[in-house]
Parts: sequence; C-alpha cells; structure tokens
Amino acid sequence: MWIFLNDKFVDRKEAVVSVFDHGYLYGDGIYETLRAYAGRIFMLQQHLARLRRSGRLIGLDLPIPEKDWPALLSAAISRNGLTDAYLRITISRGEGEIGLDPALCPRPTAVILAKPFAPYPSHLFQDGVSLAILQVRRNLSAALSPQIKSLNFLNNILAKQEATRARAFDGIMLNAEGHLTECTISNLFFVRGGRLCTPSVECGILDGITREVVLLLARENGVPIEEGRYKAEALQQAEECFLTNTTMEIMPVREINNTPVGSGRPGPLTLKLQELFRRNLSRFLE
Ligand code: PLP
Repeated sequence: MWIFLNDKFVDRKEAVVSVFDHGYLYGDGIYETLRAYAGRIFMLQQHLARLRRSGRLIGLDLPIPEKDWPALLSAAISRNGLTDAYLRITISRGEGEIGLDPALCPRPTAVILAKPFAPYPSHLFQDGVSLAILQVRRNLSAALSPQIKSLNFLNNILAKQEATRARAFDGIMLNAEGHLTECTISNLFFVRGGRLCTPSVECGILDGITREVVLLLARENGVPIEEGRYKAEALQQAEECFLTNTTMEIMPVREINNTPVGSGRPGPLTLKLQELFRRNLSRFLE
C-alpha cells in the first residue's frame, strides 16, 4: 500500500508520523473522506473546497497547492492499483513542541491514503438500519463548529459508543436546544407529509456533500423540500427516513429507538432518490 506523506509516496511501513505531531497530541487538524467510482472522484471540487474551509476555520494553510490535489489523488488511486476507492486526506498541524500554540509547528503534516472501497453490506440497503436518539449532544457550534471537519472527533466517537450500547447501527445527536442534527458520520433526512425534511445547517451540522446532491436531485425532480429545526418528536410522524454520506450514499432507516419508521421498509421517496442518485452519478464524478 502506497501512502502519500508530505511530499512523496511511501510504503505503508514508512508512513509514520511523529508523536510530537499536534494532530496526535491535540486532535489539531482536518480531514476529508472521498470516494472514487471506477477511478473518478465523487464531488472532488466540493471536497477540496470543504478541506480549504476547514483549514481556514482553524487557521491552517494547506501545505499542498490547490492545483496539485487532483493529480495527487489520482496517483494515490492508480499507484495502489485501485478503481473503486476510499480516499482519506488528513492534514494535521504538524510536529512541534508541547503547547497549544499552532506557531510551535512550522509545517503541517499531509497524508493521502487510498484503499479498496468496501461497500456496506447489501442487506442494510435492502432492510434499512436502526438508529437510536442519543443523550450525547452535538458540539455547540459556538464551541467547536460541526462545519469544521476536524481530527478532534471525540464528540462523534462518544455518540457512536452510545449508539453501539443501544445496539443501533448509529445514533442521532440533538443540539443544545434539543433539535435534531445528524448522526455520527452522516446527515439525516426524513419524509413527513410527503415533504423531504432535513435539519438546517444552522442546527449545527456538517453540511454534507451528499446531502447537497440529494437536495439538488430532489429540487430538480419536483420533490418538496424543507430544511428546518425539528424536535425528536418530528420523527414519530415520519413516513420514511434515510442517512447520507459519501461512502453510504443513501441509506434507508427502518427503525428509530426500536420503533419502525413508516412501514419499516425503505419507502417510495427513499427508493426514488436512490435511483436518481445512481442514474445521475456520472454528473458528479471527476
Ligand atoms: N456528518 C458528519 C458528522 C460526517 O462526518 C459526515 C461525513 O463523514 C457527514 C455528515 C456526511 O458528509 P458527506 O456527505 O460530505 O460525506
């Protein structure tokens, strides 16, 4: 496995980072997860733009020029003999003395990792997944904005642990006001009264790139959309529910807190959006 580290591809065994790296010491850094279909990357420019935004929000200049990213990502795919690939870009603050000041770190550490894409088991798409509504709240936007895709992922890890304890596939986090936000690695959608509903960005979520694509496809196809603030009770009236992210695309939800959503089977709008996603996929690949 070839991994890009700072300025060159190295073998996996040589892809090591210092214990003084502030990404390791403090979770000080950012990342993106991307997916390639037959060598072409889904929403590449949007992922790179979000990486830059995350960098800006934590005062971290990307150590790789904007124009070099597409070729580097392609090289990460081809060097590893991949076509359908999972890609992860990680940029940490870099190596520096102990202390919080980013000025202690002269150079960020950049990593590009590509591995074969491992699809979610097909039965999850057929049957839908179970969710739990969690006690762990989503980070307060004014404390650590969920729009920063940061290496400091403990909020989501604690949420995932709670979901696992509840024997759920994943969990829904509420914000400090008790409004729905998102799951640990995905955005949340539900259908109520025939409208496609999703928590608005102001609720404190990562504005997912797949979420944007789903909203675009819905808009183009005349599906009524509502982005808003919803209490957990809104889900009790949901006819359908699904999750989105780059690796799962559109994942149906069959039950929430052990109660079936609608019929307990993937609903008609979920199936229609999955079909639109597949049919339009090539528009979103680069
Ligand atoms: N929300 C969180 C917390 C995430 O970590 C992710 C992606 O990993 C998403 C939503 C979905 O984002 P995207 O569709 O850009 O993959």
